[in-house]
Amino acid sequence: MAIIGGGITGLTAAFRLQQQGISAVLFEATDRVGGVIQTVREGGYLAECGPNTILETSPLIGELITALGLEDHRIDTNESAENRYIVRNKHPVKLPSSPLGFMASPLFSCRAKARLLAEPFIRRAPADEEESLAKFVRRRIGREFLDYAINPFVAGVYAGAPENLSTREAFPKLHALEQRYGSLILGQILGARERKRSGSVSKQNAPKFSFDQGLETLTTALGQQLKEQIRTCQAINKVVQQNNAWSLDQAGEYSAVLLALPAFRLVELQLTCDSNPVSLSELADIQYSPVASVVLGFRREDVEHPLDGFGALNPQVEQLNSLGTIFSSSLFPGRAPLGQVLLTSYVGGLRAPHLVTKTPDELCDLVMEDLNRVLGVSGEPTYRHVFVHRRAIPQYDVGFGRFKTFMNELEQNVSGLFFAGHCRDGVSLVDSIVSGHNAADRIAGHLHQTCQNE
Ligand SMILES: Cc1cc2nc3c(=O)[nH]c(=O)nc-3n(C[C@H](O)[C@H](O)[C@H](O)COP(=O)(O)OP(=O)(O)OC[C@H]3O[C@@H](n4cnc5c(N)ncnc54)[C@H](O)[C@@H]3O)c2cc1C
Repeated sequence: MAIIGGGITGLTAAFRLQQQGISAVLFEATDRVGGVIQTVREGGYLAECGPNTILETSPLIGELITALGLEDHRIDTNESAENRYIVRNKHPVKLPSSPLGFMASPLFSCRAKARLLAEPFIRRAPADEEESLAKFVRRRIGREFLDYAINPFVAGVYAGAPENLSTREAFPKLHALEQRYGSLILGQILGARERKRSGSVSKQNAPKFSFDQGLETLTTALGQQLKEQIRTCQAINKVVQQNNAWSLDQAGEYSAVLLALPAFRLVELQLTCDSNPVSLSELADIQYSPVASVVLGFRREDVEHPLDGFGALNPQVEQLNSLGTIFSSSLFPGRAPLGQVLLTSYVGGLRAPHLVTKTPDELCDLVMEDLNRVLGVSGEPTYRHVFVHRRAIPQYDVGFGRFKTFMNELEQNVSGLFFAGHCRDGVSLVDSIVSGHNAADRIAGHLHQTCQNE
């Protein structure tokens, strides 16, 4: 069995197979496993170049951490991380967390608040209609919520555009709330009661965590468990199936293959099944947003804002340079030396894709301008690390369903071929972990079945 791609998806799948006594060889193009998860430790600072936190919405996460013996290294965000700021008129305003707080909040106008009261009376859209997130939000709760709640939130998750994203594909729970309860507000209330009964956790209440040495702790631990099975610096370009055996470039023959790759790498693969070329070019239409992570350290006294929260998101209408900033050293201890703070800002996204082509100095200047205006940051950074992801996050735009159908159909029609990862099963870390885990179970079932037939 072979796995192509050594990001969190491929690693999770290989580990899950190992737990079931199935040995998989994992091929990774670069000289390290982990994919976009990359932690840099220098001079007492700990910078994340890719993801910063895991949202524990699935019990599989806890099981994986226990199986890897990482419980003592896990650190959950502290209580103040529940505070989220949204920038309005260039000032960070706390996102209200209760109905009373909402009524008193300066984040939304009285008109927008009154408009919300009409939400339960707005008719649900037909179940088969695929609506963009922007259209959905304007229809149900009005333009101001789109601008000051949904737009910055979407920048934080997808670095994407609400006008393009599909409500059903990118935010299936939101779509389901409308379909099931006919109202987002009623759905929130009734859904909370149902969750209480069933013991499940909503995204807002799910624990958020990292590790004392950063998120790379997880992929390093997986790499150590799989040591003998990992082949780094081995990009696979050609995958050929013949007589139920899979051969990869010059890298041997396998009983099955899992493709745990970004869409833009899948389309480059030369795939041949029973002497017929199989084109994956359909997936070339999956758009990726570009993102630059700009991590800056400052003396505490050079930052006016208390940094008492998760971070601050910048709505597009505010016309700032960056998408938002995570208060990294407030979330987790050990991210900056004593007396210093660490802030992680993101630039680019579909809002301003051209910005990621700027030099690191220019990117730092753009972020400094925003930090100065929004958080009252003065003085020179004491630390900086810039990392550019030219193709960071796949966009689950209107019509995205066809890509999932395409991969599902290939899996069904080509025996021994499997797909997993962020361009199929969701863009978050937890989605990737669940995707790798579930793919491993499908593979184990397939291998079991093939053994029985022989
Ligand atoms: C800047 C940024 C911030 C993010 N923040 C968060 C966050 O805070 N929380 C969260 O939940 N999610 C976050 N995400 C999303 C999350 O990190 C990703 O969805 C997830 O890590 C994807 O993992 P993956 O294994 O599917 O893909 P990848 O990490 O892209 O791994 C794919 C691997 O395949 C390898 N590869 C490519 N081509 C070949 C080939 N031909 N042969 C062999 N190997 C190949 C690559 O080198 C890579 O290692 C963020 C993403 C980015 C980019």
